[in-house]
Amino acid sequence: MDYFEPKTVSEALSVLAKHGAEAKVIAGGTDVMVDIKFKEEPGGLVNIKKIPGLSGISENGGSLRIGALTTIREIETSALVREKLPVLWEAAHQFASLQVRNTATIGGNIGRASPSGETLAPLLVLDAKAKVAYADGEKSEPFSAFFQGPGKTSMGAKGLLTEIEIPYPAAGSKGVYLKHAVRGAMDIAMVGVAVMITPDAGKNNIQDVRIGLGAVAPTPVRALKTEALLRGKPLGPVLLKEAAILAASESSPISDQRSSAENRRWIVEALTRRGLEQTWKAATGKEVA
Ligand SMILES: Cc1cc2nc3c(=O)[nH]c(=O)nc-3n(C[C@H](O)[C@H](O)[C@H](O)COP(=O)(O)OP(=O)(O)OC[C@H]3O[C@@H](n4cnc5c(N)ncnc54)[C@H](O)[C@@H]3O)c2cc1C
Repeated sequence: MDYFEPKTVSEALSVLAKHGAEAKVIAGGTDVMVDIKFKEEPGGLVNIKKIPGLSGISENGGSLRIGALTTIREIETSALVREKLPVLWEAAHQFASLQVRNTATIGGNIGRASPSGETLAPLLVLDAKAKVAYADGEKSEPFSAFFQGPGKTSMGAKGLLTEIEIPYPAAGSKGVYLKHAVRGAMDIAMVGVAVMITPDAGKNNIQDVRIGLGAVAPTPVRALKTEALLRGKPLGPVLLKEAAILAASESSPISDQRSSAENRRWIVEALTRRGLEQTWKAATGKEVA
């Protein structure tokens, strides 16, 4: 297997352009090394860990910039992420074991594009964007159009994710990420649900709501019909039940070794219900009544 250690983004792009589909980017390696051991060896590895400037968390006006090589542990221990983007912080906090979090990067979680990738549903509800470098320049791509299927993204084999840009949620917004897995954080999510609510000025109605579903479709998805049902209304028990059922119907899970499709749909309903209840209470100070 060929092995490359580019020192700049443009050097990495040249290697990718030359070796195309045979070469694979490796960051933390927690997915790539498992694939090499149990699935197949790529023709080459492009280790991007020696490229400076691809790591770190910083504020950029009204948004947060997270470098692609930033580890999940760095996100979990960032006071800025915890304060400004709790929905992403919760995903990092519930991600695998400490050992994996110390090595796994957010860029790898995105590059892997697994429907169960922990950070993906939170990035969808946060309206985040991927910054991707290509041989002909850098592009900013919203995550809403980024994931194209299990393991497939719009950047393909020739793009290099350099950073993630996340606008701060509107004032008063509250978000939560709920994960269901057999062995808690140690396991890949059977279902993950991210919910964010922005109340109106009087805290009487839902002004905006975003619901992201993970591990229940070929890509992480927004429950757009459920969001439309909820907007402009106060959250009462009847609406809450209706919304949770609708969210489950917006998922299209498969049955696999972790769960049946039917069970996953039921979990989407339960987690959406819990997520809406929690965020409504946190945002308005009111119980669902
Ligand atoms: C024991 C164990 C437990 C796990 N638990 C979880 C869990 O709870 N939740 C979860 O979501 N995942 C989990 N994973 C999966 C894995 O840890 C994550 O997907 C992790 O974020 C991958 O990051 P990495 O840096 O290790 O990626 P790598 O393995 O280096 O790469 C992953 C993929 O992304 C591509 N890639 C990496 N960086 C870039 C980049 N900058 N630009 C373009 N492509 C890139 C690679 O080519 C590869 O296809 C687990 C894995 C293991 C081994």
